[in-house]
Amino acid sequence: MRRDFTLLGRDVRAVLGWVGRRRALVELPGALSHASPTDVRFVTQDVARFYAAFDEARRTRNFPAAFRSLYLASGSPGLREFAHRRPQGFANLGAIVRARRAFYETAREQVLSLAEDDAWKARALSAFRDLHARLPRARFPDVHLVVGGLFTGGTAGLSGLFLSAEFFADAADTRSLSAWERAAITSGDALPFLAAHELVHTLQRRSYSSVSSPSLLDLTIYEGTADFVASVVSDQAPRGAHHTFGRAHEADVWRAFRRDLLKSSVRDWLYQGPNARGVPADLGYFVGERIARSYFERTGDFAGLFDVSDPLALLRASGYDP
Ligand SMILES: [Zn+2]
Repeated sequence: MRRDFTLLGRDVRAVLGWVGRRRALVELPGALSHASPTDVRFVTQDVARFYAAFDEARRTRNFPAAFRSLYLASGSPGLREFAHRRPQGFANLGAIVRARRAFYETAREQVLSLAEDDAWKARALSAFRDLHARLPRARFPDVHLVVGGLFTGGTAGLSGLFLSAEFFADAADTRSLSAWERAAITSGDALPFLAAHELVHTLQRRSYSSVSSPSLLDLTIYEGTADFVASVVSDQAPRGAHHTFGRAHEADVWRAFRRDLLKSSVRDWLYQGPNARGVPADLGYFVGERIARSYFERTGDFAGLFDVSDPLALLRASGYDP
């Protein structure tokens, strides 16, 4: 989902610490990924650890201590990397879960079964294979299914892709969640789309570096391309209130977006979380998906979507103008 896996010095040092002597980091982040989707591993044991910590927290009534010792400290290297990328969220994980314990309790069965379920993993691999056929240079990271504090449905890092299983517990009791959290809960059949979206992020070469400030158009194309490619390879339409609203009001959305596209502020279009007013959050994903789709339909250039050195040129070549 949101852009947060850019390599910083501290990331490199942390990852070197995690992987220790197990593997040489010849190339980052490709060193920890595979040339073929067949070699992708699904790492899911953190899900059961989460519920062991949950049970201990309920028994001792000390949620922070239970999650610290039984989940985070003994989690997989992937979980520890995910926690490193969400430091504030994971520092408060115990309190977040305690405030939403009815949700996590009623999500348990669905979340644990996702860890065991091979059907979504097979569909994710099928999406990865489709992407490989279209982009032979692609590499494929391992997929980690973890449980978090409703921070983000998915993200990518050096250990692989991270998918947060609690977002896929659509049968759970969501009354303890905020309206925004509730709206973000979806069903497990959205996992292959999300895995493909995060995979695309690991393959994108971007025109901006971690230190420059990207424009709204940069980030819109970055997210929209991931949604477009994910929809093609997973054979699932992009979901969510932002896509539904965008399709219903496409010309108006575009007119408003066009005024903002070179701004560096994305706050009206991307990553608003609960702060969107009047329209659904993340409409930029919709706009970007339409631009990427239009570009591909016009040019047939799939690889070009992963190597956007000039977002304005891509927009012009797309001919997008609803
Ligand atoms: Zn994304």
